[in-house]
Amino acid sequence: MENLDSFSTDYLFYQSRKQMPFIERAQGVYIWDHTGKKYLDGSSGAVNCNIGHGNNRVANRLAEQARKAVFAYRTQFENEPAHRYAAELVTYLAPHLQRVFFVSSGSEAVESAIKLCRQYFFNRGQKSRHQFISRTPSYHGSTLGALALTSYSPLEIPFRPMMKAYPKIPAPYCYRCQYHKKTKCNLECAWALERAIVEQGPESIAGFIAEPIGGASTGAVVPPRDYFGVIEHICKKYGIFLILDEVMTGFGRTGKLFAYEHWDVDADIVVMSKGITAGYYPLGAIAARTEYVDEMMDNGGFSHGHTLAGNPMGCAVGLEVLNVITENRLSENAAAMGKLLKAGLERLKKRFQFIGQVRGQGLLTAIELVQERKTREPFPAEQNIHFLLTDEAYDEGLIIYPRRPINGLKGDHVLVAPPLISTRKEIKELLALLERALERTEAKLPA
Ligand code: PLP
Repeated sequence: MENLDSFSTDYLFYQSRKQMPFIERAQGVYIWDHTGKKYLDGSSGAVNCNIGHGNNRVANRLAEQARKAVFAYRTQFENEPAHRYAAELVTYLAPHLQRVFFVSSGSEAVESAIKLCRQYFFNRGQKSRHQFISRTPSYHGSTLGALALTSYSPLEIPFRPMMKAYPKIPAPYCYRCQYHKKTKCNLECAWALERAIVEQGPESIAGFIAEPIGGASTGAVVPPRDYFGVIEHICKKYGIFLILDEVMTGFGRTGKLFAYEHWDVDADIVVMSKGITAGYYPLGAIAARTEYVDEMMDNGGFSHGHTLAGNPMGCAVGLEVLNVITENRLSENAAAMGKLLKAGLERLKKRFQFIGQVRGQGLLTAIELVQERKTREPFPAEQNIHFLLTDEAYDEGLIIYPRRPINGLKGDHVLVAPPLISTRKEIKELLALLERALERTEAKLPA
């Protein structure tokens, strides 16, 4: 291994809070750093490396496409990987979602969804429909348009005022219900959408966007069973787009190829990225209702695009990753391993009083950390317990994904979301590492 001690890291900046070790190599569910230390990737990177690391089949397809043609500009050439991939992808989507638009990231995909809705209404002479309603907390990306739909204060505050501060309704977060309901709730958080539409004026609303299962925002919160039924009913009643942001939940993560399959809900647009290429190449996409796109195409097309949109590399990798997921039944594996993982997390909850809740679906799980389980009293935000646990896990050789309390909602959580290729043995190993990290955290908890 090259000696990296004298290597300057001054020239590159991120959001990161501290200097991390260099990644040396990665294989399956494991990562090695430049000192030779091994980690179990319990967060699949940023919950995107769904098929695990070092997949030769995808690496070979990437190299093969790079040698053949790395780029085709859409006004100059059609490219086969993009058409092939779109045609294959729609076979796994709802029958009314048969039109695909490619971009390079989740944020760009959310931007594309926003612009598609706005152009659709513009073409129909309904220019006033420019607003979007989203939820708080939520995460839909970091570009300014996507950030305006996001409700994740640490990432938003420096950029206020937003391009437009769109209205937000409470996310379904039953453990800390924003309506303080204890038992029967009547889905107030879903009906809040109708109240927001009426308050804003229905003629001003273009769409509503939601993560089907909370990702970085609420942390693997699964909505009540009938939540999306109510949401869909309201969107239909007011003629607005229902946009499901499957950037984190898509491509098998929750035990189905797309999380919306857990309920009987018809989205008008599904937003995808992350697992779409599992980290092997930047790619994002939206799939939209066929008749809406066709109407727009008859009206001169979509006034939107990026240089790398639908490039052959990303699409070749996307198709190969999709084949890896479906041929190896990774969604089914995520469902089975998710059950094992959740059962193990519940066992850890019995042992560690500072685990308040275990939640999630498939291999998108989380634990919420509390000072007092009975009252759900959170740790004071400044104690950063989510970082303490994540750091202890890191020292043990386990990577998990922390989240601080946001948007006035109290409570730290960490996401536990290993690659969908995880075996029983690897899930058990993850749980053993997490148990040691929890022991070390418990010993350091403020008295
Ligand atoms: N939407 C959701 C639900 C996400 O989880 C993310 C990223 O975490 C995004 C959008 C933004 O994706 P990207 O970071 O690729 O821009």
